[in-house]
Amino acid sequence: MSSTTSGPSRTAPDDRRRAALDVLLDPGLESLVEMILSSPAPDTYEAHAIDGAVRFRRRPTRSGWTFEVDSVEGRDPLADQDPTRFAPLAAELAAGYPDRKANSYPYAWEHVAQIFDHPCAPDLCVLHTAAHHQQEHRGEHGSLGVVQARAPFILAGAGVRRLGLVDRHCRLIDVAPTLLALLGIGAGAGVRPGVSGTPGQPRPDAYLASQDGDALVELLDEGAAPQHVVAVLFDGCNPNRLYDMAASGEAPNVARLLGLGTGYRYGAMASLPTVTLANHTSLLTGCHPGHHGVLHNAWYDRDLGRQVVTESPATWQEAMRWLAPGVETIHQAIKRRRPGAVTVSVNEPADSGADYSTFDLFRQGRTDELLPDFSVLPPFTAESFADADESYRWSTFADEVALRQATAIWGGSHLGIDYPPPVFMWVSFSLTDSAFHEGGPHGDIAKAAVRDTDARLGAVLDAVEGAGVFDRTAFCLVADHGMEENDLQVTGNWEDPLRAAGISFRDEASGFLYLDV
Ligand SMILES: [Zn+2]
Repeated sequence: MSSTTSGPSRTAPDDRRRAALDVLLDPGLESLVEMILSSPAPDTYEAHAIDGAVRFRRRPTRSGWTFEVDSVEGRDPLADQDPTRFAPLAAELAAGYPDRKANSYPYAWEHVAQIFDHPCAPDLCVLHTAAHHQQEHRGEHGSLGVVQARAPFILAGAGVRRLGLVDRHCRLIDVAPTLLALLGIGAGAGVRPGVSGTPGQPRPDAYLASQDGDALVELLDEGAAPQHVVAVLFDGCNPNRLYDMAASGEAPNVARLLGLGTGYRYGAMASLPTVTLANHTSLLTGCHPGHHGVLHNAWYDRDLGRQVVTESPATWQEAMRWLAPGVETIHQAIKRRRPGAVTVSVNEPADSGADYSTFDLFRQGRTDELLPDFSVLPPFTAESFADADESYRWSTFADEVALRQATAIWGGSHLGIDYPPPVFMWVSFSLTDSAFHEGGPHGDIAKAAVRDTDARLGAVLDAVEGAGVFDRTAFCLVADHGMEENDLQVTGNWEDPLRAAGISFRDEASGFLYLDV
């Protein structure tokens, strides 16, 4: 029953890890390297920073895991796990580019540990500093720091308590169990997953077959459960920015949802790595990336002897082949209890079990049936940014395609097939991620993306009203990770110093180091 007896296979002996650590902890890399994570033994984890290190252990309990610090040298890099840091917007703006002593790492222990449960976990996981300008992007995410992990979270509509914006926080892994509880689907026997290949700990309160997260039942009204749930994802949307625009009238549809429900000021924390596909899958499965299987945008599979890439235009549609055995999506969990329920997945790669899925059409080679007229900018588009920025333009069209599918299905017919009002619909919008990357979360392009995406959210709400079921429908607004502005002056990489030191390595997805493969 316990999952403490085995761990992922590792090929790099301690001396190789130590040699790489010595390079990465050199003062010359201090501005780029926040900390380095590793698991030198099963259920044992280390975080090393230039000014200190911590070693901690994980033990199973009746209701999950407990973590105990084994030893600390210097400053404990994971000591500060305050989820309320740098919120609201003014606090984030005042913080600038928080360094390791100012930053916080909510839920750090479980987020670190879960990575090393995956059979393809790296030997070392290197986290970028908040300031590191690592690509051309002004905005970044992927790290453990609170601003990069923090996504907005709003639950609203039928069956949801109306508390407005409250001083609370949760995890993205809590979203799927919460939506299932909201739909009135009861909890039952499942497992809390752990080390890959082990059965996991039984839990009696599971909404999904495998479940790390917990349902936020405190948000549910005592009245009748909604008959429909619509979840909308604003990819990469910084919640401080979003809530501020809702309050100032620039995101009226987000404000409408806040008026119809409850939003978490301190957000929903993404799992490590705080990147897109790993956390879309966490949202849809209620499991951490190290447990659901989609570990990162890319990783190295030691058994297959090759790189695995999940997040690319060529591989998104096949990404769910990496789901671990026993992991269920929310679509599958609904249909296991209600076989006749119709569920819909719009522009979302984590789609297993959905009756309708955009990515299923891609897999069938039917992409052309969804394509819009690219010569005309779609509605809800800030033309100046769409004309000037290729990623803004591309995402605008992608989100237009999403909106057309969602509204058509609520209208009762799409691509020649009739649909009843779906029990569950997931809609992913991508423009916020593109724009927040491009100009950072506080630039004009980010604000334009929020306005455009808020308008598309409004069109989805209108479509549900048009179907005559608004009063029986609940809504969720969430993102897959946060977005933090970086410092254009802080550039460089750790690959060159590692090579110069004669260390053999692969660096997957900019931070997953595999030594000697
Ligand atoms: Zn994303």
